Formats: sequence, structure tokens, C-alpha cells
Amino acid sequence: MTASPHVVVIGAGTLGMCSAHALAEQGARVSVIDAQSVASGSSGRSVGVVGTQLTDPFEIQLRMHSVRRVRQWEERLGLGFNHIGYLRLARTAEQMELFARSAEIQREAGFRSRVYQANELQQLVPHMSSDELEGGIFGPDDGFLDPHEMCTLLAQEVKKLGSEVFQFRKLLGVARTAGGYRLETSKGPIECDFVVNAAGAWAPRVAEMFGQTLHILPERHEALAIHLDEPLPYTMPMVMDLVNGQGTGLNFRHEKARELIAEIHKVASPQPEDPDNYNEQCEEESKVWLAEMLLKRVPDLPGARLGRGWAGLYPVTADHRPHVGPIDPSEPRVITAAGAGGYGIQLSPVIGLTVSDWVLQGAPTLMPEARQLAPTPERNIPAAHAAA
Ligand SMILES: Cc1cc2nc3c(=O)[nH]c(=O)nc-3n(C[C@H](O)[C@H](O)[C@H](O)COP(=O)(O)OP(=O)(O)OC[C@H]3O[C@@H](n4cnc5c(N)ncnc54)[C@H](O)[C@@H]3O)c2cc1C
Repeated sequence: MTASPHVVVIGAGTLGMCSAHALAEQGARVSVIDAQSVASGSSGRSVGVVGTQLTDPFEIQLRMHSVRRVRQWEERLGLGFNHIGYLRLARTAEQMELFARSAEIQREAGFRSRVYQANELQQLVPHMSSDELEGGIFGPDDGFLDPHEMCTLLAQEVKKLGSEVFQFRKLLGVARTAGGYRLETSKGPIECDFVVNAAGAWAPRVAEMFGQTLHILPERHEALAIHLDEPLPYTMPMVMDLVNGQGTGLNFRHEKARELIAEIHKVASPQPEDPDNYNEQCEEESKVWLAEMLLKRVPDLPGARLGRGWAGLYPVTADHRPHVGPIDPSEPRVITAAGAGGYGIQLSPVIGLTVSDWVLQGAPTLMPEARQLAPTPERNIPAAHAAA
């Protein structure tokens, strides 16, 4: 390996920009290329929530690494991180037990998190109906950011570190050279030592150019703004009704003083979408259905009415964990960073650090357990085969 390898990152969404930034910080020369503009894919269509309120210890660890990095960017780069808090709802006593363990893991690592019983939920969300709920877990320091702002700030940092970001430059083809690759792009060739495939829902097409098979299902999700007649006298935290696949998947949060955003994290029967040609609008009947679900959980919101809606893609893998690492051990210079599903904003900082480790150290070192995210033949299977 050369002392300062030249790495091309394909895709300027959150996974690509976090990877590029981590690599540039560690001394690599990076060229990011995007077929469109920075954050124009799934990243710019997301709800931007970042938090640690999960139940699986590995998933919590990943997010704690991410949140630490986001806090650094908040302090050093001025990234806006709206700390509205994150409340995940539980419907069973078993889920409450998992929450208690999660809060303990987080507290041990210096993160604030607390379990609330059903009759305490109104302390957090006065409009909350606790029907069918056992309680919830709440992290007051979690929140949301603007992924477009994050990608733009990281692009500026990458450039300050001597690297490059090319927008409207599409990867068209690949040839192998003695030590690396010659990438044909819509604005001329680039020679490099390493490639990071961070092309989101398009990552399988990019993998194909390298003769690789990558299984990612582009799954369409809709989001909707709800306008209120008057500001709520409290901040609506991110509220998520889903624990390990159980629950409706409804989630909502404050966006502005008189606006909430709602989304459904779970799709009943996911269909693969063409990332170049899918309906980017929220369908009228989905808007009504989403609003009805929201008003069942938080009834009597003052003058709630439908606002703008949109749709975007979750790049989903079979086990709902991202693919981070080489697909083919005999081709260790092509690193995949894709398939983060509905959690690609909050996972992108730790994915970026892991990608940098794969390129510069040959394996994850910051978090050695992240090796299990490599797209091995056991994991890299069609998402349709995924367990529920
Ligand atoms: C409605 C909705 C709400 C969401 N809410 C959240 C949330 O609250 N929190 C969270 O963590 N996650 C959320 N997500 C998920 C998150 O948005 C995604 O997981 C994440 O954005 C994926 O980022 P990415 O960098 O992998 O892909 P993308 O952002 O799609 O970036 C891929 C880039 O690759 C480029 N590209 C493709 N092909 C080529 C090529 N041949 N050459 C060059 N460039 C190419 C594309 O132009 C694109 O810009 C949400 C998603 C949706 C749809």
C-alpha cells in the first residue's frame, strides 16, 4: 500500500461523505464523485434523526460512536443538532426489560437514557395516549440534524484537507490497473488505489461494474408534515413505535414550532424500487392514513392538518444491518459502504470511521466488532430472504 493512497468514494450521501471525511482526516487523498449533487439521494429525503435508543448492545455501541462524532462536528464545525430527545415506545413487559438493559449500557458509557412507565409518558408528551403501551425509553440528548447540511459541511472539510468533491460526475465503467483501478466517469477517467462504493440504492449497480454482486433492496418510504394551528407548549421529541420489528413503525417529531413530521419505518410488503424511477411524492391516501395513525397516538393536537409529503428510499439489506467492508477478500481495495436502511444518517459517522479503517488498516480497529458488518456470503443475500 502507498503511504497516502488515493481513494475514490462513489456517492456523496451521508455514508460517502462520512467515509471521505474520515479517510481525509487520516491522510488519504480522496476524490468523491456523485452522479448528482451532494445529499441528492436518500440522505436528502430523510427525517435526519440520530439517537441511541435501541435494544441490541452492538447496535447501541455503533450509535454511541456515531453520536460522539456528531457532537464533535456540532462543536467544531457548527453542525446543527437539534436535541429534542428520542422516545421509543414499548408494548410488552419483555420490551421494557430490554429497555432497562439498554439504559444501563448507555449510562455506563456516559449517555443519558431513562425508562418511563406508561403512566409517566405524558411527562414527556402531554398529548400522548398510552393505549396498548407498557412504557418507553427516552434519551434527552438525541435529536435530529439536516443531512444536507452535514454532507455540505463535510465536503468543505474534505476540501480543506486537500481532497476533492465532484458533483454531477457519474461512474460509468471500471478497468483494473497494475495497482488499482481506472474509473471511467462522465467527466473523464480517474486512476486510484482504492474505491469505496457508497452509492446507496444504486450500490448494486456500481458493484456490478466491478464484477461483484451486492444485495440491497431499495424500499420506498413516505414522510409527511403536519401543520398545527398554534405552537405546542412543549417540544415533541422523536417518538418511535417500533421495537425489533414489533409495533406500527409510526414515528414523528417536531420540525418547527407549528410543524411535526411523521413517517412509517416499517413497510408491510416491501417491493424493490428503481432508484432512477420511483414515485417521490407521498400518495394522498398514505397522507390520510399517516395522519390518522398519528392522531390516534397523540389525539387533540390543536388544528392538525396535512402539509407537504415526500417519499425516499431505504437501501435495505437482508439482516437490516449495513454492508461495510470488502465483498470479495481477493479484492480488498473495493470497500462497500451501503445498505444502512432507515438508519443511514445515524450510522454514517461510525460507518465512515470503519471504512477508513478498512482502507488504511486493512480491518476495523476503532471498533473491531464492526468486522461483522462485512458483506460476507452469509450476509450478502437477497433482502427478500430476510427474517421478519
Ligand atoms: C423518508 C425517509 C426518512 C428517513 N429517516 C431517517 C432518519 O431519521 N434517521 C436515519 O438515520 N436514517 C433515515 N433514513 C435513511 C437514510 O436516509 C438512508 O439510510 C441514508 O441516507 C443512505 O445514505 P447513502 O449515503 O447510503 O445513500 P444516498 O444518500 O442515496 O447517496 C448515494 C449517492 O450515490 C450517488 N450515485 C449513485 N450512482 C452513482 C454513480 N454511478 N456514480 C456516482 N454517484 C452515484 C447518488 O447520486 C447518491 O447521491 C430515512 C430515509 C427515508 C427515505
